[in-house]
Amino acid sequence: MSAARAHTDFDIVVVGGGPNGATVAALLARHGGVPPERVALLAPELDGHDGAPRAAPAGGAGADLRVAAISRASECLLRNAGAWEHLPHERVCAYERMRIWHESAPADGPGTLAFSAAELAEANLGYIIENRALAAAAQLSFRAQGGRVIASRLRSLASDAAAARVGTDGGEYSARLVIGADGARSQVRELLSLAVREHDYRQSAIVANIATSKPHQHTAWQRFLGTGPLALLPLFDGRCSIVWSADSALAEELMKLAPAEFSRRLEAASDGVLGTTTLAGERLSLPLRRATSVTLIGPRAALVGDAAHVIHPLAGQGVNLGFMDAAALCGVLSAGVAEGEDPGAARLLRRYEQQRLTHDTLMSWAMSGFNEVFARGPSPAGWIAARLLALAAVNPLLRRSFARRALGLAGEVPALARRGFAVAPAVSRGREAQC
Ligand SMILES: Cc1cc2nc3c(=O)[nH]c(=O)nc-3n(C[C@H](O)[C@H](O)[C@H](O)COP(=O)(O)OP(=O)(O)OC[C@H]3O[C@@H](n4cnc5c(N)ncnc54)[C@H](O)[C@@H]3O)c2cc1C
Repeated sequence: MSAARAHTDFDIVVVGGGPNGATVAALLARHGGVPPERVALLAPELDGHDGAPRAAPAGGAGADLRVAAISRASECLLRNAGAWEHLPHERVCAYERMRIWHESAPADGPGTLAFSAAELAEANLGYIIENRALAAAAQLSFRAQGGRVIASRLRSLASDAAAARVGTDGGEYSARLVIGADGARSQVRELLSLAVREHDYRQSAIVANIATSKPHQHTAWQRFLGTGPLALLPLFDGRCSIVWSADSALAEELMKLAPAEFSRRLEAASDGVLGTTTLAGERLSLPLRRATSVTLIGPRAALVGDAAHVIHPLAGQGVNLGFMDAAALCGVLSAGVAEGEDPGAARLLRRYEQQRLTHDTLMSWAMSGFNEVFARGPSPAGWIAARLLALAAVNPLLRRSFARRALGLAGEVPALARRGFAVAPAVSRGREAQC
């Protein structure tokens, strides 16, 4: 069947070398059913020697500002992509507990929703990992398997019945399938003229690293304030990464404060749960919006990750959601290719969309819903928010069910991200997928 097809430079071109793009490329090279050298990754930002990505900044510097909380399902997926072994493990922080509370209740009171790994008989609840480390580890795996990294930026995209043509600032390539993993302002999505539903949260997330006088106890902390949620995430070096989502005017004010005053305000906002807090470097403010592409596919094209959906960061699910897109897409393509299908066949792409579009959209709305319901100040709505958290806190069944879903141990999890999953060697080029 493939002999009758027109020749193309690649079977699959992935656009974007961020966490999701690099991971889908590594996964496809390992489990996609196509030869690794027939997969290309357009990754314009390579910063290491020999054009290879660096998983950690030179000189062992402190943590990057952009980090992500990674679930068990994502860990399984990264292992199956061969990326886990390339992570700088000394820079990865496992967290064992989570504490979520409302500003109207004390952090150590009965109204705090608390999860622990021990309660679930798990070693931990997940990991805090720098975004650049995730992307670099997946790129290293991809290269090690023989995938081709092209350090060029996408400029144009066109397709016909035979192939997609990918124009870059370094030349043009033909492929059977193009995967858009080029982030929130996806050019692939734009060039395909796919519509996006957007919502402006009128909030910005301030991210920064802080030192605290009390140890972080390998715990992820989240306090719901009337102006938005504040998260304190444990880092490998004993510091914490903060994600302080605040109404735009407040965020602007906080960004203008001198470091000492900002630290004082942060300590108050976190209810002193980690003692005194000291800003340990620069702050970055990121405007928050929800954006969901109305479709995940186009002619010989599919979207994954932030190119497909940008969600509120309050539950730390953005990268995790993209990883599940990667797992679903790879699963569909490998099954199709094993049956002799063209990886860009509309039938396969529709199957991918059926698996992910509703799920991704619901997750996106759920995050908006949590933000609406729980980010409430002193008011009847705030009282209800605090009671809802307290209700969940005292119900072990509900708590366990939440925690298992957040870990990716329950719910709709694509096969390549499931624990204990093993795929047929014919599809996986002799490598057994496992977590
Ligand atoms: C404050 C904050 C906190 C967050 N915390 C978490 C968390 O704890 N857990 C979690 O799971 N998620 C979290 N997220 C979400 C997470 O950061 C994103 O979902 C994730 O970065 C998306 O990865 P991506 O690879 O899809 O896109 P990106 O990281 O945006 O990568 C896109 C890549 O595409 C490249 N690119 C762009 N245009 C082109 C082009 N024309 N040609 C070639 N390449 C191109 C870019 O250079 C980039 O490398 C958070 C988000 C925010 C804002």
